Amino acid sequence: MPPPAVKTIRDLIFYRYAKLIAKQAGLRENYGFIMNRFNALKEGRISWSNLTREHKRAVLRGSSCAYCNSPTGTNFDHVIPISKGGPDSADNLISVCRECNLSKADRDLYYWWVKVKRKDSDDIPRVVEGKYLKLIYDIHKSRGTLESTDLDGDGDLTVLDLGFILGKRSQIDGGIAKSEEKMGLDEKSTAYSSNNRQHIASIRRNTLIKGGRKKSRKGRSRAKTVRYEKGLVYKIKKRLGIN
Ligand SMILES: [Zn+2]
Repeated sequence: MPPPAVKTIRDLIFYRYAKLIAKQAGLRENYGFIMNRFNALKEGRISWSNLTREHKRAVLRGSSCAYCNSPTGTNFDHVIPISKGGPDSADNLISVCRECNLSKADRDLYYWWVKVKRKDSDDIPRVVEGKYLKLIYDIHKSRGTLESTDLDGDGDLTVLDLGFILGKRSQIDGGIAKSEEKMGLDEKSTAYSSNNRQHIASIRRNTLIKGGRKKSRKGRSRAKTVRYEKGLVYKIKKRLGIN
């Protein structure tokens, strides 16, 4: 769990990056150093190394698997899956072994590492997390979620919030666009079905027994009346051609 000073997605990305700097410097457990780097990143006093440097780092470490260090890193993995909005560029590529590639599939890096592999997020190799953080920063920036907190709604801001939006927004936008398109194309039928709904509602009102009386005037039990009313609504809907 990040310290209280880490309040937003932007903070969390800088905090994770500060931890990478500390790890690189051999000061992994040095909280003071981590917070010093965190504040410097947040205030813009230091900029994180650009992706070209991350790429060089990846090339220098050779072809072993970037995730598990197995010497057979002959597959390529997109750190942020293309299907989830990751770019198809060298910035997003690492060489990995077949097993890790298949295991990660199109999952978010943190989700895969923490929830599937059940490992500490602090043990994600530096080159992988470095690339991920910069890419995810750009994605949150473009979506206006850098100042968000707890995107997955579980009550805490954790690393799992960083990738939570991946592949989600476009689906939601698509859904809204689809329903708007439907409404625009078919205003008449919308008005028509609205009339039908009112018609059905009025029948429902007239048929339902109010106040929870056990017997209706006709002597039916409430359960029977409900069944009767449902049947009636079904018949009307069928006649009007709506499902
Ligand atoms: Zn591997």
